[in-house]
Amino acid sequence: MIDFGFSRTESACIDLDRHSDRLLNRLIERDPDILTCMACGSCAATCTAGRYLPMNLRRVILHVQRGNTHSEILQTAHCMFCGKCSLVCPRGINTRPLLAAIRTENTNPKNTAQ
Ligand code: SF4
Ligand code: SF4
Repeated sequence: MIDFGFSRTESACIDLDRHSDRLLNRLIERDPDILTCMACGSCAATCTAGRYLPMNLRRVILHVQRGNTHSEILQTAHCMFCGKCSLVCPRGINTRPLLAAIRTENTNPKNTAQ
Protein backbone atom coordinates (compact mmCIF):
# COMPACT_ATOMS: atom_id res chain seq x y z
CA MET A 1 0.00 0.00 0.00
CA ILE A 2 1.23 3.51 -0.79
CA ASP A 3 2.22 5.53 2.26
CA PHE A 4 0.81 9.03 1.78
CA GLY A 5 2.08 10.18 5.16
CA PHE A 6 -1.37 10.39 6.69
CA SER A 7 -4.17 8.02 7.56
CA ARG A 8 -7.94 8.17 7.62
CA THR A 9 -9.30 8.86 11.07
CA GLU A 10 -11.48 6.29 12.74
CA SER A 11 -15.20 6.79 12.20
CA ALA A 12 -16.80 8.83 14.99
CA CYS A 13 -20.16 7.13 14.47
CA ILE A 14 -21.70 5.53 17.54
CA ASP A 15 -22.16 1.80 17.10
CA LEU A 16 -25.45 1.28 18.89
CA ASP A 17 -24.83 -2.46 19.07
CA ARG A 18 -21.75 -1.77 21.19
CA HIS A 19 -23.06 1.27 23.04
CA SER A 20 -23.30 1.08 26.81
CA ASP A 21 -23.88 4.04 29.12
CA ARG A 22 -23.24 2.02 32.28
CA LEU A 23 -19.67 3.21 32.72
CA LEU A 24 -20.68 6.85 32.17
CA ASN A 25 -23.53 6.58 34.67
CA ARG A 26 -21.24 5.08 37.32
CA LEU A 27 -18.75 7.92 36.81
CA ILE A 28 -21.53 10.53 37.03
CA GLU A 29 -22.59 8.99 40.35
CA ARG A 30 -19.05 9.51 41.64
CA ASP A 31 -18.59 13.00 40.19
CA PRO A 32 -20.90 14.64 37.62
CA ASP A 33 -18.07 16.93 36.46
CA ILE A 34 -17.37 14.56 33.58
CA LEU A 35 -20.48 15.99 31.91
CA THR A 36 -18.88 19.45 31.77
CA CYS A 37 -15.95 18.37 29.58
CA MET A 38 -16.07 20.34 26.32
CA ALA A 39 -13.38 18.28 24.57
CA CYS A 40 -11.04 21.27 24.25
CA GLY A 41 -7.96 19.05 24.35
CA SER A 42 -5.95 21.17 26.81
CA CYS A 43 -5.44 18.10 28.98
CA ALA A 44 -4.10 16.05 26.07
CA ALA A 45 -1.81 18.88 24.96
CA THR A 46 -0.08 19.02 28.33
CA CYS A 47 -0.19 15.34 29.25
CA THR A 48 3.11 13.97 30.50
CA ALA A 49 2.30 10.40 29.50
CA GLY A 50 0.83 11.45 26.15
CA ARG A 51 4.17 12.84 25.11
CA TYR A 52 5.61 9.33 24.86
CA LEU A 53 2.68 6.92 25.04
CA PRO A 54 -0.84 6.57 23.65
CA MET A 55 -2.68 8.55 26.32
CA ASN A 56 -5.25 11.19 25.43
CA LEU A 57 -7.72 12.13 28.17
CA ARG A 58 -9.90 14.11 25.78
CA ARG A 59 -10.40 11.02 23.62
CA VAL A 60 -10.94 8.79 26.65
CA ILE A 61 -13.71 11.05 27.97
CA LEU A 62 -15.32 11.28 24.54
CA HIS A 63 -15.40 7.50 24.26
CA VAL A 64 -16.84 7.13 27.76
CA GLN A 65 -19.53 9.72 26.96
CA ARG A 66 -20.37 7.91 23.72
CA GLY A 67 -20.57 4.56 25.45
CA ASN A 68 -17.68 3.06 23.55
CA THR A 69 -16.24 1.01 26.38
CA HIS A 70 -13.50 -0.56 24.33
CA SER A 71 -9.73 -0.54 24.24
CA GLU A 72 -9.40 3.24 23.84
CA ILE A 73 -10.26 3.63 27.51
CA LEU A 74 -7.40 1.32 28.46
CA GLN A 75 -5.11 4.24 27.62
CA THR A 76 -5.67 5.36 31.20
CA ALA A 77 -3.22 2.62 32.24
CA HIS A 78 -0.47 4.95 31.00
CA CYS A 79 -1.54 7.83 33.24
CA MET A 80 1.04 8.77 35.88
CA PHE A 81 -1.39 10.89 37.93
CA CYS A 82 0.91 13.88 37.69
CA GLY A 83 -2.10 16.21 37.70
CA LYS A 84 -0.97 18.58 34.93
CA CYS A 85 -4.24 18.04 33.09
CA SER A 86 -6.27 19.29 36.05
CA LEU A 87 -4.17 22.47 36.20
CA VAL A 88 -5.01 23.43 32.61
CA CYS A 89 -8.61 22.22 32.38
CA PRO A 90 -10.75 25.31 31.65
CA ARG A 91 -13.75 23.60 33.21
CA GLY A 92 -11.90 22.92 36.43
CA ILE A 93 -12.47 19.18 36.26
CA ASN A 94 -10.56 17.33 38.97
CA THR A 95 -9.10 14.89 36.48
CA ARG A 96 -6.97 12.68 38.73
CA PRO A 97 -9.87 11.19 40.70
CA LEU A 98 -11.77 10.93 37.41
CA LEU A 99 -8.91 8.98 35.81
CA ALA A 100 -8.68 6.69 38.81
CA ALA A 101 -12.44 6.13 38.68
CA ILE A 102 -12.34 5.35 34.95
CA ARG A 103 -9.66 2.75 35.58
CA THR A 104 -11.55 1.18 38.45
CA GLU A 105 -15.00 1.24 36.90
CA ASN A 106 -13.80 0.11 33.47
CA THR A 107 -12.44 -3.10 34.96
CA ASN A 108 -15.85 -3.87 36.46
CA PRO A 109 -17.56 -6.26 34.01
CA LYS A 110 -20.96 -4.94 35.11
CA ASN A 111 -20.11 -1.56 33.58
CA THR A 112 -18.78 -2.79 30.26
CA ALA A 113 -20.99 -5.78 29.52
CA GLN A 114 -23.07 -5.26 26.39
S1 SF4 B 1 -2.57 13.04 35.35
FE1 SF4 B 1 -2.41 11.46 33.70
S2 SF4 B 1 -3.71 12.24 32.01
FE2 SF4 B 1 -3.26 13.99 33.41
S3 SF4 B 1 -1.42 15.01 32.54
FE3 SF4 B 1 -0.72 13.52 34.09
S4 SF4 B 1 -0.28 11.61 32.95
FE4 SF4 B 1 -1.59 12.92 31.62
S1 SF4 C 1 -9.00 20.05 29.54
FE1 SF4 C 1 -10.91 19.62 30.68
S2 SF4 C 1 -12.57 20.34 29.32
FE2 SF4 C 1 -10.73 20.17 28.07
S3 SF4 C 1 -10.83 18.09 27.15
FE3 SF4 C 1 -9.62 17.94 29.03
S4 SF4 C 1 -11.07 17.36 30.68
FE4 SF4 C 1 -12.26 18.14 28.91
